[in-house]
Amino acid sequence: MTYNAADDRYESLEYRRAGNSGLDLPAFSFGLWQKFGTDYPYETQREIALHAFDLGITHFDNADRYGPPHRAAQQFFGRVLKHDLAPYRDELILSTKAGNPIGSSPYLKGGSRKSLLTSLEHSLRDLGTDHVDIFYSHSPDLTTPLEETVGALASAVEQGKALYVGVSNYAPERAHEAAVLLRQAGVPLLIHQPRYSVFDRRPELNGLLKLAAEDGFGLIVYSPLAQGLLTNKYLDGIPAGARAQNSAFLSPDVIDDTYRQRAAALNRIAEQRGQSLAQLALQWVLRQPQVTSALIGASSPWQLDHNVKALDFPPLTEEELALIDEHGVH
Ligand code: NDP
Repeated sequence: MTYNAADDRYESLEYRRAGNSGLDLPAFSFGLWQKFGTDYPYETQREIALHAFDLGITHFDNADRYGPPHRAAQQFFGRVLKHDLAPYRDELILSTKAGNPIGSSPYLKGGSRKSLLTSLEHSLRDLGTDHVDIFYSHSPDLTTPLEETVGALASAVEQGKALYVGVSNYAPERAHEAAVLLRQAGVPLLIHQPRYSVFDRRPELNGLLKLAAEDGFGLIVYSPLAQGLLTNKYLDGIPAGARAQNSAFLSPDVIDDTYRQRAAALNRIAEQRGQSLAQLALQWVLRQPQVTSALIGASSPWQLDHNVKALDFPPLTEEELALIDEHGVH
């Protein structure tokens, strides 16, 4: 069936400026890490991706690694782009990442120029586009000079294969060094992609939030729902089809009594505010002005509808934040 994007797609979502750049990103970006490989039906995946765009989610986050198998999530998106989203390419922010291992060859991993630029070429072919909007170094590679990794990011922009660059999972000191080198190269660091949630406070504790403000880059935070643990779905067990049941990245062992008590306490705080735990958790990461976007996953259109309403609630009070700290910190 021919896809026509919803006419009202820009009417409800908030867009936020990424650091000191001129680029606005939706408060919620959509990630294709899981359930967008060849292991799930294409029609279901297509419905979710198109629904995201209908909600105003213009930003789709991908990586050469996402699948399974590796590259499959980009091939999936390439198919949707070709058949449905091609007329809207100018309205899309497509991100990809390189550097995490995708094979045993020395050139299919790490932060070398060879690895990053070869991966980008392949990703462009898989996505069926001549440029991505954001190209990331997926993880720091301490065995490769940062100058080489950063130089490859800058080259991608100079070659017109990326509009902006980002880093992910970089410790603050290395992110700062990358920001300085990129500024010297005339390609400012747009954004950093760390993990951040009520259950993972590292960006607050290690100074990354502060650094983002000082260096002028944005933050797009991944797994803000802790892969689903910060929703009410695991309060009474593991529902069929949930990620903790079928993903190598979320062990069912984490759903123990301690987890259930913490989640139930957080769920009560959310209920008192008239929202769900998922909405509370998303509002919590987005309360930070340095956080440009919460990078979420979803396995149904319903989850997206539900989650994007997170910012419809009154801001969290100091008292509520203190209560969340009580139950969210180990
Ligand atoms: P989330 O923490 O948002 O988890 C998403 C999952 O939670 C969904 O797939 C779904 O899982 C469940 N969920 C979502 N909403 C609800 C709801 N309302 N009620 C119940 N369950 C819900 O993010 P992800 O961990 O998926 O990460 C998001 C993106 O971040 C990735 O796709 C990727 O783009 C990026 N990322 C980047 C990394 C990096 O190294 N740079 C690492 C990891 C992620 P279920 O299947 O159980 O329904």
